[in-house]
Amino acid sequence: MKAGTYLKRLFYPPHCLLCGQILDVRAAAAVCTHCRPADYIPTNPRCPVCSRPVDLAGKKCPGCRAHHNVTVGRGTLLYRDAVQESIHAFKYEGMKEYASGYAKLMIEFDRDFWSGLGEDFALVPVPIHAKRRRERGYNQAEELARALAEAFLQKTGMRIPVWPGLLRTKHTAPLRQMGAQSRRRALAGAFQTDSRAGSPPVQALVLIDDIYTSGSTIETCAEVLKKHFPNIKVFFWTAAIRE
Ligand SMILES: [Zn+2]
Ligand SMILES: [Zn+2]
Repeated sequence: MKAGTYLKRLFYPPHCLLCGQILDVRAAAAVCTHCRPADYIPTNPRCPVCSRPVDLAGKKCPGCRAHHNVTVGRGTLLYRDAVQESIHAFKYEGMKEYASGYAKLMIEFDRDFWSGLGEDFALVPVPIHAKRRRERGYNQAEELARALAEAFLQKTGMRIPVWPGLLRTKHTAPLRQMGAQSRRRALAGAFQTDSRAGSPPVQALVLIDDIYTSGSTIETCAEVLKKHFPNIKVFFWTAAIRE
């Protein structure tokens, strides 16, 4: 560990992202020795689109069937109990340091997903509106994308770029309480590409967000990317996925 990193961890010790306990400053783990992230990994068989557990191999989950979701990807941890509290703290209570813990777990548990992408892909954080960013002080998806790029470099030596090419141009009311249809309507026209970012220098883009719920946010972002860059494949990868 670099001296600077060690000092930083000494003064801002990392916390277990499942129980909040302070971790050993020399450890590079995402969780404490008591917590078991494997308990939150979706079981097989999984939905071929969103990766949620399903009854029959090859069959889409009810959510993907109902909402015609097509963007394939992974949600690493099932959104329940400790993961639910953790994501809440990550998003609303300033625990942006959790990003590096999620990134480590995502790379560890979804190796089959990212190794299938080759090395020619970039991470695209799902943007939040400037107003919400000012209120919150950070965009959790951006923190996660940066932490993933850093974890890829440390664990695999791969240099995976973050391509911040999406903008959220429409402020919407919180989507949490809405059904999938109302979410889609609320999100119509909410995202645009940022011309300052240029064209992504890769063959695949992976949308990064904290949580996959109905898939409406991911699908809306993916549509914008596919429209502007028809030759680039679009996937998603989130720290958590609602069951
Ligand atoms: Zn713990
Ligand atoms: Zn699904």
